[in-house]
Amino acid sequence: MKAEVLVVGAGPAGLSAAISAAKGGKKVVIIDKKEEIGKPVQCAEGIGSYLLEYLPFEFPKEFIEAKISGMYFWTEEKEIKKVGSIYEGYTINREKFEKWLAKKAENYGAKILLKNEFNGLEEGDDYIEAWSDKENFRAEKLIAADGAESGVLKSLRLFKEECIAKVINFEMKNVDLRFKDMEQVFITELAPLGYGFIFPLSGRRANIGLGTADRNIDLEKNFEEFLEIPVIKKQIKNAEIVKDKSGSVTIDYHVNGFTVGDKILLAGDCANQNLKPFAEGILPAVICGYIAGDAISMNKDYKKLVYEHMGDLIRYSDKINLFVKKVYELGVESRNNVILEILSNIASLDDILLNILIEETDILESEK
Ligand SMILES: Cc1cc2nc3c(=O)[nH]c(=O)nc-3n(C[C@H](O)[C@H](O)[C@H](O)COP(=O)(O)OP(=O)(O)OC[C@H]3O[C@@H](n4cnc5c(N)ncnc54)[C@H](O)[C@@H]3O)c2cc1C
Repeated sequence: MKAEVLVVGAGPAGLSAAISAAKGGKKVVIIDKKEEIGKPVQCAEGIGSYLLEYLPFEFPKEFIEAKISGMYFWTEEKEIKKVGSIYEGYTINREKFEKWLAKKAENYGAKILLKNEFNGLEEGDDYIEAWSDKENFRAEKLIAADGAESGVLKSLRLFKEECIAKVINFEMKNVDLRFKDMEQVFITELAPLGYGFIFPLSGRRANIGLGTADRNIDLEKNFEEFLEIPVIKKQIKNAEIVKDKSGSVTIDYHVNGFTVGDKILLAGDCANQNLKPFAEGILPAVICGYIAGDAISMNKDYKKLVYEHMGDLIRYSDKINLFVKKVYELGVESRNNVILEILSNIASLDDILLNILIEETDILESEK
């Protein structure tokens, strides 16, 4: 099968890339191993309002589950509530949103092939040959948008296990939510380099989970313990699990930049385009995917376009990611509280970095 652009992965990044490439006049084929667009959902479905202005189209309001007016941050010693500005957002019905994106891509002429698992590729001088378990493809460009466990990166031997984190996440019903319009974030030793969360959906439903980048953690065991934390236990005493929405999320770059050679563009999670510290990736995937499709149809520099559009957000995300790692690496005292202060914006990243450096220097001095 021939295509000008082959997109691997029909998640938010791939579908959005297909929309812009097809809109720009390219013949686009998207493949996905799934049987149905949007299923299974492996996500807590929170989006920040601050990202809406970066989207290439208006977010369809009908897919909003709950309006989020702020965030509540918790450690064993501290609690902080923040409302408004960057803490505002929504939870959405991601399955319906993805189906809407798919329809949009098809309306522009993109062809979606489901139940097609990408299996490998070979680069020629003028084109790429790729194959799934069902078809062979020849394309001028390939957009890898196959998420955190990217098969494209694995086949190129560029995938690094340490660049992904595991997240356990269940949708529950009959939750006695402490805050119906707030995302609850728990910074706990049960999830070093990560966090626990309760994100409200409509009715009395919520996505409840725990994710960590620490590969030595027994996440299932810690999730059980997480549910025993009194402030959480109280909210789920009548709750029942409706769906398992667990999955992997990217936490670092497998490759520098968002391209491999001149024919392969990476978009969404496989390009580490989710924003830290929360690994917020739905809207960034849509935004960057769209730019990838545009870059191809307009023959422009993809990375440059991404940085022109949302470079500030990416730079801040990279900085805070490094910062959180440093806090854990150095064993900074009451590290969870330090992180809480940063996330809730009551201390600036630069101030805290300075304090850590001073502390580190003090430790080195006393060891001399
Ligand atoms: C449990 C959990 C909770 C999260 N919560 C949030 C949240 O609340 N808010 C937020 O913004 N982000 C959240 N994220 C992150 C967010 O889900 C990702 O950043 C986002 O999905 C990235 O979109 P994507 O299109 O790059 O990849 P994906 O959404 O992963 O889509 C990749 C697609 O590629 C397909 N695919 C994979 N391999 C192959 C293959 N070999 N062949 C063919 N197809 C393939 C998959 O089936 C899938 O459809 C969460 C992640 C997890 C795991």
